[in-house]
Amino acid sequence: MLYNEPSPLETRVLSRRFGLPDSASLGTYLATEGYQAFLKAARMKPDEIIEEVKASNLRGRGGAGFPAGMKWSFVPRSSPKPKYIVVNADESEPGTCKDRVLIENDPHQLIEGVLIAGLAVDAHAGYIYVRGEYRYLIEILEKAIAEAYAGGRLGKNIQGTGFDFDLYTHTGAGAYECGEESALLESLEGKRGIPRIRPPFPAVVGAFQRPTVLNNVETYCAVPAIILRGGAAFAALGVPRAGGTKMTCLTGNLNKPGVYELRMGFPVMKMIEEVGGGIRGGRKLKAMIPGGSSCPVLTAAECEGATMDYDSMSARKTMLGSGGVIVMDDQTCMVKAAARIIRFYAHESCGWCIPCREGATWLRKILVRFHAGGGTRADIGLIGDIARNMLGRTFCPLGDAAAMPTISIVEKFQEEFEDHLDGRPCPYEHAEHMVMA
Ligand code: SF4
Repeated sequence: MLYNEPSPLETRVLSRRFGLPDSASLGTYLATEGYQAFLKAARMKPDEIIEEVKASNLRGRGGAGFPAGMKWSFVPRSSPKPKYIVVNADESEPGTCKDRVLIENDPHQLIEGVLIAGLAVDAHAGYIYVRGEYRYLIEILEKAIAEAYAGGRLGKNIQGTGFDFDLYTHTGAGAYECGEESALLESLEGKRGIPRIRPPFPAVVGAFQRPTVLNNVETYCAVPAIILRGGAAFAALGVPRAGGTKMTCLTGNLNKPGVYELRMGFPVMKMIEEVGGGIRGGRKLKAMIPGGSSCPVLTAAECEGATMDYDSMSARKTMLGSGGVIVMDDQTCMVKAAARIIRFYAHESCGWCIPCREGATWLRKILVRFHAGGGTRADIGLIGDIARNMLGRTFCPLGDAAAMPTISIVEKFQEEFEDHLDGRPCPYEHAEHMVMA
């Protein structure tokens, strides 16, 4: 179930079972240290588990990068209310396709990470919220969960530890917005997937109004290795403020696109040229989105010297995000790229707040018209103004997600907008590139 050949430049921690025969099975998992981390964690105090996760410098892999151990420590463990573990498997960000690979190849690693989170916060039930379009993953997860129950790795008195835990899957209906944690919780409860006003945060008032740990698939998948090898060993794989590896999705105009596990802090140009095999057709790099389509784009010059970690990306006013890298070559039309990206966000806006709903739709209409040759010089300023007025004025990050790539493209590639003025045909695009309906 591999999507690409492994690269010798990878550091395989979460993906170490990829490629093994029947890698998704309980038998393969048990033969490769599976569920040993759970047994070790069961002998630890909850505070010790949380301290180990803190020591690993594991930051949430869904995009926000919040320290996982700190998030777990916010759960009021002494509360008499039931607590829950929720897995965000609503992977929908364009350019991002890593969680599905983790689930397809090694679902028991995810289950074990969830169990350890349960031990840490005294939770005895969990939910894996799976993106609607990923229904085929439900079958894989259900099979793994059934195997885990049959093998005494879920249910009552797991592996004789006295710890009980039940795990369920739940499918979304295909809304990107449900990847936002509070909208996910609304959807999990059977309601319309729109965000909640916070505070309170899910750690205190989460699923079914109970204390909840909510993390991304990749975050939980890192936990067994952290417990087994120690937080310090995981931290040492990364950079000072972000430990471990990152499942990195290389997409776009590359010779070897795929999902690769790279150390946090991996050099961007080495990633493009050596891991991704360089730009297709021997062409030149024009731009790169580092962490999914909601991140501001980097120009080729900005990629020089950059590394794949939170601080390096933040210094360049963009984000590591989900690790969904989109590489664009010198024949990519950046006006069309902006239009294609905003079309997604305009479609996915839940419509609850006006700056997102109206702003994204307005931007889509202008950018599509602009790319078709109907743009004016005044539109160039207007595109930036509309997008900047969306920033920070919405209930959830989708409004910013729509605005940020648009702002970066219109600011960094203004000359390409000018090249489209006066009805001139697009001078950049060629047939292989993004199709826009
Ligand atoms: Fe909905 Fe967009 Fe507002 Fe988020 S920002 S709540 S997606 S309208």
